[in-house]
Amino acid sequence: MAGRHFLFVPGPTNVPDRIQRSMMVAMEDHRSSRFPELSRALFPGLRRLFRCTEGEAFIFPTTGTGAWEASLANTLSPGDRVLAPRFGQFSHLWIDMMQRLGLDVQVLECEWGSGAPEERIEQALREDREHRIKGVMVVHNETATGVTSDIAGVRRALDAARHPALLYVDSVSGLGSIDLRFTEWGIDLAVAGSQKGLMMPAGLGLVCASPKALEAGRSAGLKRVFFDFADMRRANADGYFPYTPSLPLLYGLRESLAMLEEEGLDNVFERHARLAGGVRAAVHAWGLQTCCREARWHSDTVTAIVVPPQHDARRVIDIAFRRYDLALGAGLSKLAGRVFRIGHLGDLNELMLLGALGGVEMAMADAGIDILAGSGAAAAQSQWRGATARAHARMAPQLALVN
Ligand code: PLP
Repeated sequence: MAGRHFLFVPGPTNVPDRIQRSMMVAMEDHRSSRFPELSRALFPGLRRLFRCTEGEAFIFPTTGTGAWEASLANTLSPGDRVLAPRFGQFSHLWIDMMQRLGLDVQVLECEWGSGAPEERIEQALREDREHRIKGVMVVHNETATGVTSDIAGVRRALDAARHPALLYVDSVSGLGSIDLRFTEWGIDLAVAGSQKGLMMPAGLGLVCASPKALEAGRSAGLKRVFFDFADMRRANADGYFPYTPSLPLLYGLRESLAMLEEEGLDNVFERHARLAGGVRAAVHAWGLQTCCREARWHSDTVTAIVVPPQHDARRVIDIAFRRYDLALGAGLSKLAGRVFRIGHLGDLNELMLLGALGGVEMAMADAGIDILAGSGAAAAQSQWRGATARAHARMAPQLALVN
């Protein structure tokens, strides 16, 4: 098809030209005396991205799933009890991994579309008087349902129960797009991947570990080889990796971190919040609902839109893809056919998103869903116009237009 493909799945996201170019490098010796110049600069940048002032960042050649495994395998022992709320496909898959690794998972079943239940977590921890629970695992941004949990609230639950469990946070679709404060929120292990807020291809699994998590690793009995923190720390200390790193991805990461810092993390978060507000205004104008059950959990990186009961969201997704070259996220597992998802994270602005909203409107109308074409795009525009002008005036007053 002529023109640009519209990639609006919640990861992988668009890779900006600047990052694409940075990855077009000739291969070089990853054991050369110059290589540490590249690698050493990445770790402080990564820690700033996680907002980690105490702890260590790790870069594994893997994806978010591998980063999950690294966080577990380096800190827990077979049979350890962990507490994990399940409220979407990714919390489900992480729980499945924990079970397959031989952990004893106490699952808090929640309705899909809700976020981490702080009160139930606190209650479960209070009841665990012998402190058998070694970890609490929460998906920060549940990509399947468009739900962002209150991680600071979960931390408060641990503190209120005076429980020493480690706090594990999956921020695969949050890091670099929505607020995450590793040290301030008392997170012990945070995991992410390169293909979402970092605007890169998949291939890097990023982990941040607190001093308490690193200490837990000394006695952690789960088997680990490829994902061993100790091997990684030893090699990283001199600026190297224990095995062959992906050079293009490391150069891409350097560029991604630079871009996020140039925009300013708070501005990045504000842009995502602003764009997400427009998407939600569009959904409202269409007379549809999002999957997210409470406004406090609305995700600023992905919106899962519920189609009316007699319709199949898969048809909307297929029409959008085949007719309009627009890729939307599918409903996963029990949400298959019931929702489609718009990813609005990474390298994105209002007009790109308006294109996607226009495509969504056409695809829904073509699929026979009774919406007024143009209504969502118009609602998003009115939501954005004032907010975008104010954001620009704040960020670059000298460039702001006068009405
Ligand atoms: N966790 C969340 C919240 C995700 O959205 C994803 C992927 O979309 C994963 C984990 C798994 O990451 P990956 O597909 O990079 O292995």
